[in-house]
Amino acid sequence: MSDPSPAHLRTRSDGGRAAEYPPAPEPLPVAVYDNHTHLEIADGALPLDVHEHLERAASVGIAGAVQVGTDVATSRWSAEVAALEPRLLAAVALHPNEAPELEASGTLDEALAVIDELAARPRVRAIGETGLDFFRTGEDGRGAQFRSFEAHIDIAKRHGLALQIHDRDAHDDVVATLRRVGAPERTVFHCFSGGEELARLAADEGWYLSFAGNVTFKNAENLREALRVAPRDRILVETDAPYLTPVPLRGRPNAPYLVPHTVRFMAEVLGVDLAEFCEQLAANTVAVYGSWQDEPVTGAKA
Ligand SMILES: [Zn+2]
Ligand SMILES: [Zn+2]
Repeated sequence: MSDPSPAHLRTRSDGGRAAEYPPAPEPLPVAVYDNHTHLEIADGALPLDVHEHLERAASVGIAGAVQVGTDVATSRWSAEVAALEPRLLAAVALHPNEAPELEASGTLDEALAVIDELAARPRVRAIGETGLDFFRTGEDGRGAQFRSFEAHIDIAKRHGLALQIHDRDAHDDVVATLRRVGAPERTVFHCFSGGEELARLAADEGWYLSFAGNVTFKNAENLREALRVAPRDRILVETDAPYLTPVPLRGRPNAPYLVPHTVRFMAEVLGVDLAEFCEQLAANTVAVYGSWQDEPVTGAKA
């Protein structure tokens, strides 16, 4: 079977791992989706291509994924691969850590115009990942991050798309920005990194919390507290692959087919029936992005 996608565009920012992909977990009883992944990034001793990723995912009850771009090249790739592969939808954006560099080279507006253009493609269902990252970007890059974040919020609203937020050490400013300019109808905190307080605030606003493999980490009690207080109809699951491999597989590459580890862990934390929890996760995902099979249910194209 031929892979419809071009070769991997990227390697991991930390250079990648020598380890191989872990064995497949036991399948989930009801299919769910990985709502945030980066299949363009090669990782491990034997990197998987898009087709291999999706076949393995399907074999354990992961029906599809949202492939997420972080710059112009990966956003284009995401839109293209989602147009060819029915098990993928795309999200397009400039990552907050890209914004200061683009602004410094005078190309931020041009890059935002490309994102706006890609947002009109039929299999593009979210603008992301965008947001604020005060961990990797210092004071002098923040102006560009705010400007880029606000432009992405505007694009999401104009195209009737969901928003996938990257929030690293910037909870207060992310929330203040969303409240100031008005959040899109479907707003997702990807790789949710807050605690109970932010989870309650998000619940009041109707925002979604997407939990990644780090919810399984021993020191992540704050994430589990957030999970416990989050409304069930606002919870999503993701990999952020190839990063954030869940326990007990840390140190090996992550991939959508490993989502069952995180889902089982979350169901245990919540003390809920696994099949019912999977049904809820799948319904939440479709409520945010629309169906993988059909045209978007809520899209109001500009
Ligand atoms: Zn992120
Ligand atoms: Zn990501």
